[in-house]
Amino acid sequence: MTKRASPVVAVTQTQIVKARLDPRLNEPYFSVIKDAGFSGCQHAQHGVKLDKTKQRAYCKKCGEEIALFDALWNYHHAEERLVGTLQQMQKMRDDEAARKQRERERRPFVREVVGRVARKDMTLKAEPIIGYVNELECGHKQQQNSDRHLSRVTCHECKNAAAKAKR
Ligand SMILES: [Zn+2]
Ligand SMILES: [Zn+2]
Repeated sequence: MTKRASPVVAVTQTQIVKARLDPRLNEPYFSVIKDAGFSGCQHAQHGVKLDKTKQRAYCKKCGEEIALFDALWNYHHAEERLVGTLQQMQKMRDDEAARKQRERERRPFVREVVGRVARKDMTLKAEPIIGYVNELECGHKQQQNSDRHLSRVTCHECKNAAAKAKR
């Protein structure tokens, strides 16, 4: 008692199957779920937990699985940033060294003040500090009467020593 499918029904079924196989005929074969289960976690910022046996990678923060290629690519970018930062730091050190060198050439007897000790006159009870003794980077000491904090001063001892050596 089976009823033969009518030609019309057969054609419709063929079309449906064809439509599924050829996205142009109907709706796309693949529909992509947008931001499926997006946790708001920026995996790339948190590092990767590796399961070496299963060869799988997971986000250290949220535990979501990450494609191995993505893990590698994120690592590559992190490494690039690190190299960039190191280069930047080296450049800053070089610039600072060059600046100090120029300063030395321009004013050869200017020395950095590396320490400062107050000179006190204990007979003056209210304000016993009468000045400071600056310790310079060259090892010499220099008196200062004002209470300004100087970071650099000309070292007269170094200057005199150089003048003596010239004579
Ligand atoms: Zn994550
Ligand atoms: Zn000196």
